[in-house]
Amino acid sequence: MSGQLKYVLDETQIPKSWYNIAADLPVPPPPALHPGTMQPAGPGDFEPLFPMELILQEVSTEREIEIPEPIRDIYRMWRPSPLIRARRLEQALGTPAKIYFKNEGVSPAGSHKPNTAVPQAWYNKEAGIKRLSTETGAGQWGSSLAFAGALFGIDVTVFQVRVSYDQKPYRRALMETYGARCLPSPSTETESGRAILAQFPDSPGSLGIAISEAVEVAAKDPAVKYALGSVLNHVLLHQTVNGLEAIKQFEMAGDDPDVVIGCVGGGSNFAGIAFPYLGMQLRGGRKRRFVAVEPASCPTMTRGKYAYDFGDTAHLTPLVKMHTLGSTFIPPASHSGGLRYHGMAPLVSHVHQLGLIEARAYRQIACFDAAIQFARCEGIVPAPESTHAVCCAIDEALRCKREGKAETILFNLSGHGHFDMGAYIAYFEGKLTDHSYDEGELALALAGLPSVAA
Ligand SMILES: *Cc1c(COP(=O)(O)O)cnc(C)c1O
Repeated sequence: MSGQLKYVLDETQIPKSWYNIAADLPVPPPPALHPGTMQPAGPGDFEPLFPMELILQEVSTEREIEIPEPIRDIYRMWRPSPLIRARRLEQALGTPAKIYFKNEGVSPAGSHKPNTAVPQAWYNKEAGIKRLSTETGAGQWGSSLAFAGALFGIDVTVFQVRVSYDQKPYRRALMETYGARCLPSPSTETESGRAILAQFPDSPGSLGIAISEAVEVAAKDPAVKYALGSVLNHVLLHQTVNGLEAIKQFEMAGDDPDVVIGCVGGGSNFAGIAFPYLGMQLRGGRKRRFVAVEPASCPTMTRGKYAYDFGDTAHLTPLVKMHTLGSTFIPPASHSGGLRYHGMAPLVSHVHQLGLIEARAYRQIACFDAAIQFARCEGIVPAPESTHAVCCAIDEALRCKREGKAETILFNLSGHGHFDMGAYIAYFEGKLTDHSYDEGELALALAGLPSVAA
């Protein structure tokens, strides 16, 4: 066991701009549509929900968007995140492959999500906004926005998916520590929440429902804006700070990834690590493989349709073209709350449709098997979401072993699992199950997709 393990940049090497893949796409992605007129949505359609600077980022085709200095200054609290060579895991697997991971678990909230929570809160503050409303699954996004809100003196209201609210009381305590108000969703505070509760009093909730509640609150009150932790173009943009760092760190390492892996809920941490590399390829650079990994219980990319759909259950959002299981589909409860979303980022869906990336679905138990092997070699306990990326990296390393190939594998460790030890307890007690979704419910949700003229 010798050789360097960590590639660490200093604070001055935090990227000065985010990377916008829209500048390099061979075909532009289909536009978002206004749900009433079915015409392409303009910046004005998003104004009730987002400050103008973020709307302009959403539709920008500039390749580089400057990171304002106050945001870089906050990024310095935990960025650049380390690139780590998993030598002990390589040895345990007996693979000729080299495995590297970016550890996004080093942020204050424990995941990649503050990379976008901080800029979103900052642009809202610049626009004079005093309160943000949002949803959260496992609580990672809610705690990230709560942290960012605390930095800028913005009040944050979080609708947390019921099943996670019950499963993960520590996440809620973290949100409250940062000063946010956290409600279980569906809640009685919104029309969308009350409508669901009337039909399904025991609803475990879903990200689609929680988004409806958070959007409703913002749409009804001009003093409140909405913040989304994934899916949107500007969120993916902010996450590229991670991939841009990885490019510099691989230069330090004198290495270069052949395969880039990320788990996908809404697609933001995957895009954050993959898009800067994919952009180099689109500008004529070398070809790499990019693998997006989703849970088999919520298989948006591998089983969903590529179609126009709503981002939420109550149909308050614009229509976007994406891989979707249908906005009324409620994925079975699993420990990867952050991956239980019916849709996928339009940009991730688009590059998949163009054949530029691969998608794979993994079952929960195999992911925890992989995560425990990883923890016993590398010491870091992955978040349940991140276990999907770990599992895929191990699969790729074992493929390299079978094929006798010394490839370089990079995966994004999107977060640590210190707040998710309940999932690990369930695993050790043999209570973790491979939840299957209901095929009938999926067919019904897909049949209910809105019809949009070509
Ligand atoms: C939210 C979350 C995800 C999934 O969201 P993406 O937008 O797809 O990145 C993955 N990992 C962790 C740790 C998360 O908190």
